[in-house]
Amino acid sequence: MNTTADLVSAIRLFGALGYGHGLAGYFSALDLERPDHYWVNPLGVDFTQISVEDLLLIDARGRIAEGRGTLNPSVDALHGELHRARPDLVAFAHTHSRFGKAFSTLGRPLAPLTQDACLLFDRHEVYPRFGGPVTDRDEGKEIARTLGGGSAVILQSHGWVTGGRSIGEAAWLHVAMERAAEVQLLAEAAGTPRAIPDDIARETGAMLSRLEYADRQFTNLCLATGPH
Ligand SMILES: [Zn+2]
Repeated sequence: MNTTADLVSAIRLFGALGYGHGLAGYFSALDLERPDHYWVNPLGVDFTQISVEDLLLIDARGRIAEGRGTLNPSVDALHGELHRARPDLVAFAHTHSRFGKAFSTLGRPLAPLTQDACLLFDRHEVYPRFGGPVTDRDEGKEIARTLGGGSAVILQSHGWVTGGRSIGEAAWLHVAMERAAEVQLLAEAAGTPRAIPDDIARETGAMLSRLEYADRQFTNLCLATGPH
């Protein structure tokens, strides 16, 4: 695993999938040799244009340790607090993706409506307040508390953040949530979908949530969206 190369692949994948929105959206990953440091994309470089040279290394106090770009101050308020709260997760991704944003307005978790959506069952929570962009650490800490031991948080009227045991898993969960939100919005627009019962959703989710599956999905998505 090469942290900076994988991070660039993940950010470019998000660009190819259209998850960029202006200056919003960050993907961070722990530095394997200095686990109190993390790599992240700088402010103002489009997801589709990112390269390893653009990445910033952030130290334990939220300062740039390496890299020449600009650090969005809200990055450490959110990603820094998430990394400090969940050192077992290697990477966190936050975007303002289209269906993520639409679904986040509803203030409820994704329902296990399909087999694929079971991946997310009991693994994500809703952070119900929107008080403007996340710029203070207290809010980042609150979002980390909402995450708890889970893998993702829907941020009310904002988007969402996913965490992974690998960069690939953080990316794959983001894509899986985006697809599940799209399907749920379609199904709810057409009628009243029936949810899969909790016990079956949990069992199915456990089967789908193996790390090697997530990493394979990530590799395949990168291949399917072309050379980055
Ligand atoms: Zn945001």
